[in-house]
Amino acid sequence: MENPRTKYTELENIGSGTFGDVCRALDTATGGEVAIKKINLQGLRKKGLRVNELMVLKKNRNPNVVTCLDSYLVDEQLWLVMEYMDGGTLSDVISQTHLSEYEMAAISRECLQGLDFLHSNHVIHRDVKSCNILLRMDGSVKLADFGLSAQLTPEHRRQSSVAGTSGCRMPEVVTGQPYGPKMDIWSFGIVGIEMVK
Ligand code: ATP
Repeated sequence: MENPRTKYTELENIGSGTFGDVCRALDTATGGEVAIKKINLQGLRKKGLRVNELMVLKKNRNPNVVTCLDSYLVDEQLWLVMEYMDGGTLSDVISQTHLSEYEMAAISRECLQGLDFLHSNHVIHRDVKSCNILLRMDGSVKLADFGLSAQLTPEHRRQSSVAGTSGCRMPEVVTGQPYGPKMDIWSFGIVGIEMVK
């Protein structure tokens, strides 16, 4: 019932994805910073796939998964209001600084705790990569971008559709064989190599 255009004051664009833009905004009432991801649904044949991101985020709250605070349907856009991660992406960080072994270990522990939580809830992220890992200046590390995630069911414990980003996919995914949550562990291994390199 609320109007998100007045509830939030947009400040700047902070990123663009395949399906829309992400902006930094202020919650007008509290003054708190948020990130708003605006997903264009117009013309999308598989709108359900985008709603999937919202459902997975709302159902799976954890300190290592970015929190979805609110969601709105605005014209033909799905707005996901998320906590604002002021440290940027891990990809930005490793392109600008050299991480110590201790920092790599700490980041890895946080990401793996997030993946362990998702996998215990039968969710595969399916797009683990350094630009989908967000950091906060207080040291928090969280998994983001659940647009490709898959919820496994007792009947479907494995997936076979090709998903993820080229270069981070494990052999089973590339060759179209059934795969499970291990896909995320493989992709996280690539993130580990990226951090070291
Ligand atoms: P893709 O092309 O991978 O599908 P997308 O449309 O799903 O991308 P995201 O990767 O979720 O978009 O976000 C795009 C960028 O916006 C991120 O790389 C990051 O820089 C920024 N961003 C997203 N969420 C947040 C957040 N909660 N806090 C701060 N920045 C964020």
